[in-house]
Amino acid sequence: MADGTKIEWTDATLNVVNGCSVISPGCANCYAMRAGGRNLPGHPSTGLTMPSKAGHVWTGEVRLNERALVLPLHWRRPRTIFWNAHGDLFHNDVSDAWIDRCFAVMALTPHHTHQVLTKRSARMQSYCANPWTPQRIARVILDEAAAWGVSGTDALAPCGDRAREQDPSFVHWPLPNVWKGVSVEDQKRADERIPDLLATPAAVRFLSCEPLLGPVDLTNITGAEKSRDYGSPVHGWSAIWQNNGLGRACLDWVIVGGESGPGSRPMHPDWARGLRDQCAAAGVPFLMKQWGDWELALDRERDDPDWRADYTNDYVDRGKSKWLNLEGGCGFHGKRFVVMRSVGKRAAGRLLDGVQHDGMPK
Ligand code: SF4
Repeated sequence: MADGTKIEWTDATLNVVNGCSVISPGCANCYAMRAGGRNLPGHPSTGLTMPSKAGHVWTGEVRLNERALVLPLHWRRPRTIFWNAHGDLFHNDVSDAWIDRCFAVMALTPHHTHQVLTKRSARMQSYCANPWTPQRIARVILDEAAAWGVSGTDALAPCGDRAREQDPSFVHWPLPNVWKGVSVEDQKRADERIPDLLATPAAVRFLSCEPLLGPVDLTNITGAEKSRDYGSPVHGWSAIWQNNGLGRACLDWVIVGGESGPGSRPMHPDWARGLRDQCAAAGVPFLMKQWGDWELALDRERDDPDWRADYTNDYVDRGKSKWLNLEGGCGFHGKRFVVMRSVGKRAAGRLLDGVQHDGMPK
């Protein structure tokens, strides 16, 4: 776990759940899975992958790190903490009891902001919307706080006055210091996961669109938004974006990023622009995390009169360029296309049309 991280949108990472399994196209070049192949001593992925023709892949084992779990309890300076950069808290092999323990630590550390991101949106929704979840978390706090080195009323005070009554329902749910998000790499995953996110009780909801592999239109996604206040009625079916009858967007933050590392896939600039513009229209904070390895080398207009031109010598032969149309296929005449060039993450940077976007939820 890293107190201090290169991830642009957080202060620290905490690897409590390590090991995973591939679930969707965004996982194809999972950096955590690749890292397992390096066999670095003490690395969260070490021992959890095995060699294959496609490189190192997860074995399927998921490991839980007790030592990492309690670290936030000992961090006095407030931090924004990203949980589980090398796994998924809502993976099938993580029991509800372990998830309860993670949320218990989050409840006991209201001075931190905790970020939970998943591709298993359906499980996050069912876990978080289960009316017994807050009481189970309360029971963990009452049973384990002393063993974790947090004693008596000190342990319970952050959760409110009712804690002093040893009331197992004292956990304020959803926890106000926990942001819940889903990964979205393309429209299919947006259509599947965002309705689950909207139905998840959460103080803050966010999308991580990284690696972004296709265009994503958020304006037509509908979902029954679970009120941010646990127990309040569910809003009716509504568009998540504008004119949804709520007077605000149901999403609080969108992060966009391209892919880096061996085999990385380029991100079409219009995919990132599209999400940027949708966020601007809806007043949603937008953060451009990175281009990944790829930068824009050539942008040809639709119905390009030069479609017969051969750009091979300039780009393709180097093996470092790819032609992309808007749908993610290769460029064809009659369609606007771009040529993306692999230059490495550092050189590609994170400016979108010359602007650095660092939006964050308030
Ligand atoms: S869900 Fe995340 S950690 Fe798991 S395989 Fe996919 S990218 Fe890797």
